[in-house]
Amino acid sequence: MDSYVIGGFVRDYLLNRDIPKDIDIVAIGSGIELARKVSEKLQKKPKVQVFKNFGTAMLRWKDLEVEFVGARKESYRSDSRKPVVENGTLKDDQDRRDFTINALAFSLQKENFGDLLDPFDGVGDLKQKLIRTPLDPDITYSDDPLRMLRAIRFASQLHFKIFPESLEAISRNKDRIKIISKERVVDELNKILGSDKPSTGLSLLFRTGLLHIILPELTRLQGIEEKEGQKHKDNFWHTLEVVDNISEHTDDLWLRWAALLHDIGKAPTKRFDKKVGWTFHGHEFVGSKMVYKLFKRLRMPLNEKMKFVQKMVLMSSRPIVLAQDIVTDSAVRRLVFDAGDHVDDLMTLCEADITTKNPKKFRKYHHNFKIVRQKIVEVEERDHIRNFQPPVSGEDIMKTFNLSPSREIGIIKDAIKEAILEGDIPNEYEAARDFMLKKGKELGLEPGKG
Ligand code: ATP
Ligand code: MG
Repeated sequence: MDSYVIGGFVRDYLLNRDIPKDIDIVAIGSGIELARKVSEKLQKKPKVQVFKNFGTAMLRWKDLEVEFVGARKESYRSDSRKPVVENGTLKDDQDRRDFTINALAFSLQKENFGDLLDPFDGVGDLKQKLIRTPLDPDITYSDDPLRMLRAIRFASQLHFKIFPESLEAISRNKDRIKIISKERVVDELNKILGSDKPSTGLSLLFRTGLLHIILPELTRLQGIEEKEGQKHKDNFWHTLEVVDNISEHTDDLWLRWAALLHDIGKAPTKRFDKKVGWTFHGHEFVGSKMVYKLFKRLRMPLNEKMKFVQKMVLMSSRPIVLAQDIVTDSAVRRLVFDAGDHVDDLMTLCEADITTKNPKKFRKYHHNFKIVRQKIVEVEERDHIRNFQPPVSGEDIMKTFNLSPSREIGIIKDAIKEAILEGDIPNEYEAARDFMLKKGKELGLEPGKG
């Protein structure tokens, strides 16, 4: 049975990228049968996983994941999204691929092993760094609208340009993205956010109008308004800069999401005040609420990752306010108390948020944040505020004053925490116990006997 390596593996091999661990093999015949035959010949005969509905099979060998599929010919009818699929030749199979650079195949036949089969000059497009569809782009994108996102994702990952006619076709077909499942849309968004310079993909999403459909919260940030000679910055393009900045410092997908969403509360909270100009009061709080709705709409996880993004959005202005003043120990302790283990991520976000084009301000803000970072370390060594555990527990308080669960316990606990954060007492048992006794007295409590 004739067979070929096709798609991403060939593309990445020719681009000298890291050789992918997933390999796609197309068989002229049954992919499942070929997978079984290959397994027979391999050491330890790896198990063949069959996906009958798709007519494909997969086996894992060493650290590779090899997928086998029979060559197919596809035709779409205008009244249905489901293609009619029949067996086909290699060329038929290449015709239904999304891009010329993804239709490249290496022969696995003895006679011409390793020969490149490239019917659409994918190699030329690799050289020119072009994303182009093998067939008419309007047909390719309309048949499977996910390809529009894939085009933009590959442009962002590979630093390629999208062929102009292709880009126009994406703009024309953008509304068809609505028929694609949220999960697949988010997969592509995540890959765009994971690229070196996510603004490449995000600005393409914006230019084609896809972003207005997928993430309207973001596109609402675009634009500059002027009233009485006062302007605010364009928060959409600012956001893209922040995402690029943070991507130079972290690969963490969720911190990148936090950067993408950190200002979304600014659209609904924007006001003009004759005295102070443009304001966005409470945008961090509003934004963190919007994160939940956005994640839910896109069927993203509503777990601790979402909570992390919410927390980053909610706290995104705290270090900035702090760094504008003299940085006091108590302000740093409060920051560490509220941010907990995420305080370093928060600082990374806030540093990325500095996009001022005024070099003097740029240096000043970065310098201030450096001081904040130093203070965080110092304060942490001394006061252990991260994952704060009160040195005197509620139980201690109950025993000391012979109390059953009551309001007073909360008041005393809170007062101890405040005294530590303010720096009135150190974060230690003895000091906290003395403070507790004093506070209890103020509340008219007597230490009980026993
Ligand atoms: P990566 O693995 O980095 O996402 P890839 O090109 O290998 O890149 P896959 O999703 O693994 O992408 O798909 C493998 C191959 O299948 C692609 O190279 C392409 O030839 C084809 N393909 C995947 N999705 C589509 C699609 N929506 N339309 C047409 N062809 C597709
Ligand atoms: Mg792949």
